[in-house]
Amino acid sequence: MSVLTVCPYCGTGCQLIVNDPGTGERVIGYSKSPVNHGKLCIKGYSGLSYNFSRERLKHPLIKKNGEFLRVSWEEALNATSTRLLEIIRKFGPDSVAFQSSAKCTNEENYLMQKIARMIGTNNIDHCARSCHSPTATGLITTLGAGAATGSIKSLEESKTYFVIGSNTTEQHPIIGTAVVSGRKNGKNLVVADPRKVQLAEIASIHLQFNPGTDVALLNSIMFVILEEHLEDVEFIKGRTQGFAEFKKEIEKYAPEITEGITGVKPDAIRETARLIAKGKPTSILYAMGITQHIHGTENVMSISNLALLTGNVGVRGAGIFPLRGQNNVQGSSDMGALSEWYPGYVPVDSPKVGYLEDLWKRVLPRKKGLSLSEMFDAAADGSLKAIYVMGENPLVTEAAISDVERGVDNLDLFIVQDIFMTLTAGMADIVLPASTSLEKEGTFTNTERRIQKVNKVYESPGEARPDWWILNEVGRRVAGMSNYGSPEEIFEEIGRSVPSYSGATYDNIYPIGKQWPINSDYPNGTEILHAKSFPIGRGKFVPVRYGPAAETVSEEYNLIMTTGRNYFHYHSGTMSRRADLLSRESPEPYVEISAEDARLLGIKNSQTVTIESRHGSIETKARITDKVPKGVVFVPFHYDESRVNRLVGKALDPLSKIPEFKVVAVRLLV
Ligand code: SF4
Repeated sequence: MSVLTVCPYCGTGCQLIVNDPGTGERVIGYSKSPVNHGKLCIKGYSGLSYNFSRERLKHPLIKKNGEFLRVSWEEALNATSTRLLEIIRKFGPDSVAFQSSAKCTNEENYLMQKIARMIGTNNIDHCARSCHSPTATGLITTLGAGAATGSIKSLEESKTYFVIGSNTTEQHPIIGTAVVSGRKNGKNLVVADPRKVQLAEIASIHLQFNPGTDVALLNSIMFVILEEHLEDVEFIKGRTQGFAEFKKEIEKYAPEITEGITGVKPDAIRETARLIAKGKPTSILYAMGITQHIHGTENVMSISNLALLTGNVGVRGAGIFPLRGQNNVQGSSDMGALSEWYPGYVPVDSPKVGYLEDLWKRVLPRKKGLSLSEMFDAAADGSLKAIYVMGENPLVTEAAISDVERGVDNLDLFIVQDIFMTLTAGMADIVLPASTSLEKEGTFTNTERRIQKVNKVYESPGEARPDWWILNEVGRRVAGMSNYGSPEEIFEEIGRSVPSYSGATYDNIYPIGKQWPINSDYPNGTEILHAKSFPIGRGKFVPVRYGPAAETVSEEYNLIMTTGRNYFHYHSGTMSRRADLLSRESPEPYVEISAEDARLLGIKNSQTVTIESRHGSIETKARITDKVPKGVVFVPFHYDESRVNRLVGKALDPLSKIPEFKVVAVRLLV
């Protein structure tokens, strides 16, 4: 038997076919997929063996006297509901919080946020907070929709790619391949990144700017576009608002002035401006290099300004592409698993919440809930008593880990639902064993808004159950929710709750998915957003002023550390480090350092070093490379034996509440 489903790793959302053992190649890419055209990267081809790991959680567990004891589902679900209800009765609904997951399906995210809201709290959030919350906040403000404006397929029609803060060939390899083949066919490619990422090697221009100076860089590019009259006058006049005020701000960013901030030569800025504005259509691709800053939302709005200024929105081959890290970041955000938005990005204090109250037959909370990072602070100060985590590993992935640990230690109740005994699950009072995405049905929405059907390939081990099944049981017991018989039933309700999903059914999105909005006007979905108008009428220019990062170097902490992922691993490594081949390729943590810094510090390749920041320290191996410039070090965050987020502080973007993972002042000790 062969089953068509979606890769469980990155947000590209490649479709793959898993064949029965003995029927030839075990995993192949789906040739008819408009996303991957039969191609897969190493994670898709060789990263699925974690499903069969002996370490899978197989039974519900309850901790008694510091030891996990195996219990029945009935006992685990009763303990979950009784203890949650007791806390709610005693301290009110805002004393509990839920952490959903971009690795889980739309149906599961929808259920978890609904449980929180039906209980009476907006304390629901998920890992998009730590990767793409600035995309939602920024693009909803400027364009009216927090999503990619085009399609992966339409990248073939771009004449220029502007890739900023994205190591595309390693993090979204199939999208990276599209850019590489475009470049081979003579398209322009500008890469803006403090690291010499693979795409930089083949770029027309590599802007190797100082970490955290994105706004100064983008504003100076726009300065040149205006100075040389390369803006799209017709688009600005006909489709935008706020241009005059925006222009006034941009006039301060001559490349000769910003060079002192960004470290980029004015000539390179001028050449970039010409390529972007004259080489249309231009696609702008970005990822967490843009978002994970205290100015993350402003960075995103700056990108939006650039697209509006050059008329690169709403046409094929152009657009803004926020590349999502995990497979279902887009979908879990669409489902409202965020503390400030109900499903469909309805603000929690909007009168529009009324339609959900009618649908769910419950008066719903209107106060903003706690964001992910705020939850652990509230736990530490005692105002939050219980956290329920689904499929996330915040003890590895969140900033300021010591504070996360302090918060978790202070909880009355900590529930974790996962496929492995992660560091986070190890601290739980109750552990609920879940199925992987290859063991269940549902949908994922990829980075280009494509809603795709996820199909069951394998049986779950032991008593592990799909997350939707567990949440259905918890929702009935804790929030008085009605019984859902299948993921499809939940998806039908999503269609009634989220307008952009209203025309999608399991039947009509199969086999290759459809891009939202899918509704009576667009029954086949929408490949290019904003073609004629924006949901907010006109696209909005927002003047963005450059401000420095939260941390700067000092005599003591003389290097800037930036964090990210590598080709072989994914997020906290829970899955990829249990996939034999991926683990073999990249088995241990490391820090990338330039040859010059290594020589100055007397560091040899593979030597164990201590990295120390103002917030903590870790040990890891040095890797001397020309990928990072002098003064900058890079550390991947996949390795729980050397948690780099111990070094990251608590500074947050005030607009989206994302921590600043990308600029941390550190020193290296041997
Ligand atoms: Fe999976 Fe992403 Fe690789 Fe595609 S590019 S196979 S979705 S990890």
